[in-house]
Amino acid sequence: MAESAVTGRFAPTPSGRMHLGNIFAAMLAWLSARSAGGRFVLRIEDLDLARCSEADSRAVIDDLLWLGFDFDGEVYYQSRRAEIYADALKKISRKADIYPCWCTRGSLAATAPHGADGHPIYDGRCRRLPPDAPHDRPPCLRVAVPDRVISLTDRLQGGYRQNLAAECGDFILRRADGLYAYQLAVVVDDALSGVTEVVRGLDLLPSAPRQMFLYECLGYPPPSYCHTPLLLGPDGKRLAKRDGAYDIGELRKRFASPEPIIGALAYCAGVIDRPDELSLSELIPLFDISAIKKDNIIFLPSPLWEQP
Ligand code: GLU
Repeated sequence: MAESAVTGRFAPTPSGRMHLGNIFAAMLAWLSARSAGGRFVLRIEDLDLARCSEADSRAVIDDLLWLGFDFDGEVYYQSRRAEIYADALKKISRKADIYPCWCTRGSLAATAPHGADGHPIYDGRCRRLPPDAPHDRPPCLRVAVPDRVISLTDRLQGGYRQNLAAECGDFILRRADGLYAYQLAVVVDDALSGVTEVVRGLDLLPSAPRQMFLYECLGYPPPSYCHTPLLLGPDGKRLAKRDGAYDIGELRKRFASPEPIIGALAYCAGVIDRPDELSLSELIPLFDISAIKKDNIIFLPSPLWEQP
């Protein structure tokens, strides 16, 4: 049989232990790639070492393995790839204007209109400054975006369009403290590790047009996108670290094996149509992307969870 052309990935930010919401996103990304006979890579998004420790990265990997995930090739660590991002920045600067910006987040938040993901739409004011204007802080670097619509067809959400100039504004590629931005690192890493499909949470859909613009500047073909529903708590809010009961540490204490957890998540997503206890690999032949729910899902613990 010919090797599948599909490569998927999971790219957690290890700022603490995972919770059900992260596991849900990882499960759908893994099942999408594995059900197509594809490869699956793991990338640790630890760009900001002040927020992510090595111990957290180790815990994330250990928890993923305990849950039954497997990965191909080496694990990528973004904290070790600064030179690769610096080269990419140079390459992008041949296609688009990259310029220093001294505005602070606080000053922008107060005045600018806000884009789809809540960040202020930057009006390009630092691009118009005279080159000899004095500054009292190091700048971040922004890329000037085109005034045109970028569109994609998401495998789950359907058509999505964004005019980067009107709805996003020039965005940051390198922060004032020298760290490369998520938008740059994610594109460079997905492209260089041969990722063909990005399956991740719906909160990142508004980032896709920015990332497609960077693919264009770098001359790489963009992946296919599939933005999956987020898991919400009973209060309708996104599951987060504050919901202790859904933390993987707590879940591992409560369940001796991953099947009740994976089965409950698969049932929530629509992969299986009644609550059951199943391993990830048992779900591969059952996975059908068209059966997956499109809108965010309130997580209701399966009745199986209530049994001792
Ligand atoms: N590191 C991001 C997160 O944990 C995911 C990035 C991505 O999938 O593009 O939310």
